[in-house]
Amino acid sequence: MDSPEAAPEIREAAETIRGCHHAVALVGAGLSAESGIPTYRGTDGIWTKFGEPTIDGWELFRRDPEQWWRDALDRKNRRSEFSTAIESAEPNAGHLALAELERMGRLQHIITQNIDNLHQRAGSVAVTEIHGNRTKARCLSCGERVPLEQVSLDRLPPLCAKCGGIMKNDTVMFGEPIPSDALRRCQVQANAADVFLVIGTSAVVYPAADFPVIAVRHGATLIEINPERTPLSALANIIIRGPAGESLKCIVDLLSA
Ligand code: NAD
Repeated sequence: MDSPEAAPEIREAAETIRGCHHAVALVGAGLSAESGIPTYRGTDGIWTKFGEPTIDGWELFRRDPEQWWRDALDRKNRRSEFSTAIESAEPNAGHLALAELERMGRLQHIITQNIDNLHQRAGSVAVTEIHGNRTKARCLSCGERVPLEQVSLDRLPPLCAKCGGIMKNDTVMFGEPIPSDALRRCQVQANAADVFLVIGTSAVVYPAADFPVIAVRHGATLIEINPERTPLSALANIIIRGPAGESLKCIVDLLSA
């Protein structure tokens, strides 16, 4: 159904997506804010309110994987506000709209920085999780990813059933290199895009924040959806200053009309 009240920038975004060949979206924590998962940065971000935590997870893991797993299992029993929110979250209108855009053939790929598994639960298939997925474990040797519940924790650290390598949680820690398969897919997508959407990201975490810049250099039209200004705003051709869920749903409605 058409939305006669849609703002001009939302109409322009919909028309740009309608006319493009290869649309890619870079997604950040802001998309899942409407599912009740706090962001890190931005006005209501938990780091904005309480400060940034010590960033030494990867160092701790490398030093002693067994102890890291013991601590992680212990932390699981002492749920934080963040982990409670992420565990109970459901896909929102924004996740559903992105999945719908893919089904309509209007969105070719999502590069997500989110680890919450909500894209898949909403029905998106072409997704690269550049920072991993909290529901999976990954082998540090061969890169095999498996659901966490299939990993035997009888021995710590758990070992990969395929190659015997050390498994860690799939979520990429600060300081940890981005898995090379994910990085390659992102680079391919950034080069292929003629429309690049940046949705709900503060665009300060690298290398993720580089992909829109690469796409723009290749001539892509940049569409930003974020209630707040980001370092990418200056590069954006179309800016939607609103919540992702409502804005994306409106775009889908216009493209379905
Ligand atoms: P960020 O926390 O740095 O920034 C969030 C951005 O979302 C801000 O720019 C804010 O203005 C915007 N925002 C807030 N509400 C919004 C809404 N309703 N619609 C659209 N935008 C909205 O997030 P980031 O850029 O993704 O980087 C933080 C890192 O933290 C990522 O690597 C990610 O892995 C991790 N993270 C993930 C989750 C998750 O999986 N849901 C949640 C928090 C943090």
